[in-house]
Amino acid sequence: MAHRLQIRLLTWDVKDTLLRLRRPVGEEYATKARAHGLEVEATALGQAFGQAYRAQNHSFPNYGLSHGLTSHKWWLDVVLQTFHLAGVRDAQAVAPIAEQLYEDFSSPCTWQVLEGAENTLKGCRSRGLRLAAVSNFDRRLEDILVGLGLREYFDFVLTSEAAGWPKPDTRIFQEALQLAHVEPAVAAHIGDSYRCDYQGARAAGMHSFLVVGPEPLEPGVRDTVPKEHILPTLSHLLPALDRLEGSTPGL
Ligand SMILES: [Mg+2]
Repeated sequence: MAHRLQIRLLTWDVKDTLLRLRRPVGEEYATKARAHGLEVEATALGQAFGQAYRAQNHSFPNYGLSHGLTSHKWWLDVVLQTFHLAGVRDAQAVAPIAEQLYEDFSSPCTWQVLEGAENTLKGCRSRGLRLAAVSNFDRRLEDILVGLGLREYFDFVLTSEAAGWPKPDTRIFQEALQLAHVEPAVAAHIGDSYRCDYQGARAAGMHSFLVVGPEPLEPGVRDTVPKEHILPTLSHLLPALDRLEGSTPGL
């Protein structure tokens, strides 16, 4: 018989927790460029993207909303800068590629659901848990989740673009708690980023779990996160929730 959990709300990171890109960014960019008659090395584009993305995020956090940008314009600028750093100086030639990439990254074809994600979401729903996506993402997330068949599992999807604050800012978690009408003590967040997901949710008073890959954890993370909060795969989540209930008297 299903155990009735005291935790009522699970909030989910999306990228690299439930979904990932099918192909590395550099390859996607190179393929699209080739279709527009421009030959650029995928590796060079991948490296340039990392640099351009970090710089854009630093100068204009959360899609530059407080600087009057739209997330669409923010992304077009990232693509233009990526090609520029990879040696393509003709911004006019890159503009249609940037528009195409913006469209393509809205499409479910560009993304894939990670192993175990759908079953885990289904299992959580069948325990009566409410689920929400809380993601540093732009407005395209709803369509991506619909296209991949995952939207139906969530009561709501809260992006950093809609909230106005990106994780780890506690305000995005607080907004999710308000939308769900639950207290932080009966909510848990699941995500793959130590800083944005694991720590961010805890700073908001929630429980949290860290999804980890096969690579060894950084020592700072390994020494800080208790083993029972670490999920080597998503199928570890429900047993971890059971343990949490068992170890938290009074909840
Ligand atoms: Mg993530």
